[in-house]
Amino acid sequence: MASFLPQSICLLIEEFSKLPGVGPKSAQRLAMHLLHSPDGRLRALSDAVGDLKKGLQFCGNCWNIAEDSVYRICANGARDRRQICVVEEILDVVALEKTCEYKGVYHVLHGVLSPVDGIGPEQLKVQALVDRVRGIVGAGDAEASDSALRASAEETDGTCAIEVILATNSGLEGETTALYLMRLLQPFKLNVTRIARGLPVGGDLDYADELTLMRALQGRAAYC
Ligand SMILES: [Zn+2]
Repeated sequence: MASFLPQSICLLIEEFSKLPGVGPKSAQRLAMHLLHSPDGRLRALSDAVGDLKKGLQFCGNCWNIAEDSVYRICANGARDRRQICVVEEILDVVALEKTCEYKGVYHVLHGVLSPVDGIGPEQLKVQALVDRVRGIVGAGDAEASDSALRASAEETDGTCAIEVILATNSGLEGETTALYLMRLLQPFKLNVTRIARGLPVGGDLDYADELTLMRALQGRAAYC
């Protein structure tokens, strides 16, 4: 069908088809929609795509995308640097920030471990997390004695150690990544936690699968 269309439209359909979640039919519909759009709107779209990466860079601390060299959450002195929430993607930070619940900082992995897709720790910001934790803990060597690490991980008032919250998704790859990170961070003697899993809001018990129900029971907390 595409060969019966002008080259410019075929090219656009081909480019749309490469986008995640866009099949050939959707790509054709999008191209046809744009064909019927005013020139001004096409220019605005073209400019937005062309300018997408302009002035953006990765924060060398949390690896979120930033308009400055430091992401604004990292630059915010009110955020608790003793809590690092490790997430898969940039949009996970957005989702968590919308809750207005979390006051710590983040670390974006930019993916999850997936041997099938050839994604190992080297393709993710795993070493950057280890380096970051090592920098905060202040111990040059993860194999250092427990007492030395504990002392350095605590604030001068000794009230709070560093917490790394593993907030990767609950699928197989997310769980594998969380387990890998937990083992990797173990020598630092940090408080490594995993976000709770369970029932979605509005979800019925009898519709939930056994694994979800089991995890909901395991992750139960005091009712308040
Ligand atoms: Zn940052």
